[in-house]
Amino acid sequence: MEKKLLVMKFGGTSVGSANALTNVVNIIRDAKKDWADIVVVTSAMSGTTNLLLDSAALAAQGKIDSLPSAESTLREKHFSVADALIKDEFLRHKTKAEINGLILSLVDLCKAIAVLGEASPRAMDAVASIGERMSLHLLSAIINDAGVQAKAVESSEFVITNGHFQNAHPDFKITTEKTRLILKPLLKEGIIPITTGFIGATPEGIITTLGRGGSDYSAAIIGSVLPADEVWIWTDVDGVMTTDPRIVKEAKTLSEISYSEIAELAYYGAKVLHPKTIRPVVEAGIGLRICNTFNPSHPGTRLIANGAINGKLNKGDQVIKAVTAIRNQKLVTIEGRGMLGVPGVAARAFSAVASTGTSVPLITQASSEQSICFAVPAESADQVLDALQKNFALELSERDIDRVWATEEVAIITAVGSGTRNTPGVAGHIFSKLGDKNINVLAIAHGSSDVSISMVVIAADTELAVRSLHELIVK
Ligand code: ASP
Ligand code: MG
Repeated sequence: MEKKLLVMKFGGTSVGSANALTNVVNIIRDAKKDWADIVVVTSAMSGTTNLLLDSAALAAQGKIDSLPSAESTLREKHFSVADALIKDEFLRHKTKAEINGLILSLVDLCKAIAVLGEASPRAMDAVASIGERMSLHLLSAIINDAGVQAKAVESSEFVITNGHFQNAHPDFKITTEKTRLILKPLLKEGIIPITTGFIGATPEGIITTLGRGGSDYSAAIIGSVLPADEVWIWTDVDGVMTTDPRIVKEAKTLSEISYSEIAELAYYGAKVLHPKTIRPVVEAGIGLRICNTFNPSHPGTRLIANGAINGKLNKGDQVIKAVTAIRNQKLVTIEGRGMLGVPGVAARAFSAVASTGTSVPLITQASSEQSICFAVPAESADQVLDALQKNFALELSERDIDRVWATEEVAIITAVGSGTRNTPGVAGHIFSKLGDKNINVLAIAHGSSDVSISMVVIAADTELAVRSLHELIVK
């Protein structure tokens, strides 16, 4: 049976070299055999977005000396692939000219930024968008050259967002109308629309981006509004792994993971999928799959609606599916007997933290209410302590709060799995594992997420903690 509509997104490494792009062409050809309609979303070639944004940031400081080298890096990166993979001479020249035009627009933008002495978020988005727009031309030419009918369409024509530059939010209503209006006629003619991830535009047509790593989100948006039957995210790993294989070599690819589990993993440092990708596809009931451009026959990881139904595991389900670590954190503690029963301490503490622009990955408070403790990135700890000391100056001087302090560097280790919710003994297994290895747990959080337990350990114990907990997954 022929399946209907598939959206495939290719990440930076998947379009990052001639070799990778050869795989991409084969993947699209193969998908055409099974699917009636295909839409392709592309990222910038790996390293490109960073290079573009660095160039703009330097320009904002008046430094444009390195622009010529950025220009030639970008030319070399894109042209070498065009030379290797576009056989048709006319198409090759045309594509290189289009890419060159975009590189020249980067130079113009950076010079303008240097004159102004600042790069507004809007200017940064104009610069960042160049990466996806270059790969759009390249990829669509390569696919056409390989004999598959495809057409390049910039997503700024139909992904319509608010004006929150660098982290824009789509207007789903207009985006739905425009996406269907622009992409459906192409599909009807049997043409594969190739479009840019990461970028959108305001209703006035000014380019925005959805945030770093946002092309996964683009695929989810496009998939949900068409709607597609499935969205496949092509990357450079086989799927979601049980843990970082650099820490544990026995780490395995999970064949399935639930949406809530992967959301937790994405938050806790596994960079497989942009966290915003999940909601649009879940709400639209669309299948999501993560697969490897460099190992296309591997089934990858499928996202499923529910890991454990109502927290109850099915026979054979794993309680803990993955373990992650967020490093370079410090634990900040506010403590004092005078805090007991005083409303507003937490609110003031977190607004003081927020005033420093720091986000907090973990919070705990004991019921004695005599201390609140939370994690912050190590590099922000001093600033956070400062803000807290100022905010609680009165309480500190009156000894209602005894002290505000931060630990040495710590890591947050998180065990993720739907079974952590209702399966008795999971916490027991986790803590006895850590206890066996003599690892001291400084703080624990569980409950706010049904599907994970997080614990804080000193930095030196990070790898041992991950390895020990991983033994609970792969025995
Ligand atoms: N190119 C963008 C970035 O590097 C978006 C993406 O690749 O997802 O952030
Ligand atoms: Mg990505």
